[in-house]
Amino acid sequence: MPTLLFPPLLSFQSLCIQSKKELFASEILLSVSISYFLFPIQTNMEYEDHRFRQVQRPKYDCLLFDLDDTLYPLSSGLATSVLKNIQDYMVEKLGIEQSKIPALCDLLYKNYGTTMAGLRAIGYDFDYDEYHSFVHGRLPYENLKPDPVLRSLLLSLPIRKVIFTNADKVHAVKVLRRLGLEDCFEGIICFETLNPTHKSTASDDEDDVEFLGLKQSSCASNPEIFDIIGHFAQSNAESSGLPKTPIVCKPSESAIERALKIANINPHRTLFFEDSVRNIQSGKHVGLDTVLVGKSQRVKGADYALESIHNLREAIAELWEADKLPEPNYSGVPVETSVTA
Ligand SMILES: [Mg+2]
Repeated sequence: MPTLLFPPLLSFQSLCIQSKKELFASEILLSVSISYFLFPIQTNMEYEDHRFRQVQRPKYDCLLFDLDDTLYPLSSGLATSVLKNIQDYMVEKLGIEQSKIPALCDLLYKNYGTTMAGLRAIGYDFDYDEYHSFVHGRLPYENLKPDPVLRSLLLSLPIRKVIFTNADKVHAVKVLRRLGLEDCFEGIICFETLNPTHKSTASDDEDDVEFLGLKQSSCASNPEIFDIIGHFAQSNAESSGLPKTPIVCKPSESAIERALKIANINPHRTLFFEDSVRNIQSGKHVGLDTVLVGKSQRVKGADYALESIHNLREAIAELWEADKLPEPNYSGVPVETSVTA
């Protein structure tokens, strides 16, 4: 009797595309040849065969890449513009006082992974698509240039390659196209993969989108908004007392686990590339081997550190050695190798 070990067949496209309105984005994804994630069905016999073959396989069978500031350098200036646009959104669309923005951004980012996740947690309601188009719509994408060196490195790797970003799919595809890497990956795990489409309850009318948030006000005059600045001003304040966010994103370990499950990725046979230290540490906790990108020194939780993603071949040459046998590891715990390049 066959045993169903994984969920039924399901495409990445169906996970990523939520509504007819997003068909355009769907077409973009198709046009850049990013294919589907398929979930295999294994039988008991196949499982035994799989165990036998596993002994002869290389150490990794998947490379999981963050996108922003990982596949291109921080010096491109996109991150600075993203922060500026988020702050403008908070003032213009959510009606938050300018003087509170720096402290609020800092607390939300630290406690919720992204400012967006934090804003939802403390009570702000807004359309996710509108937020993303505001924050990413005015970025200096022209600063991103085709990267033929990285492209040839990626294409020469005989291993599954998947993008995992907190950003929305339109941004992810735009960045990959700019870098000339749109056909280097099997798929993209993006914001929409982990979060259902959300329209603000403040308005059902698209014509009113421009006015979303103007109906809201800062926490000082709106008791429905949790005062996180006031919360942490108390001497005995703890993060455990904070409201939960409905948004699923890195560095939450459950978000990473969900992403791995959706893409059928075994964390113990996957190398995770990230510029964010806390994402690296969460990745390590769920069993991934990790590469901190953009830093020359390893930190706790990082198995490797790469000053640039371009140093990949020098630092982790074994990725190209597809026939190399893995180290015997009878405990089931992945063997860590530490290289700094
Ligand atoms: Mg990043």
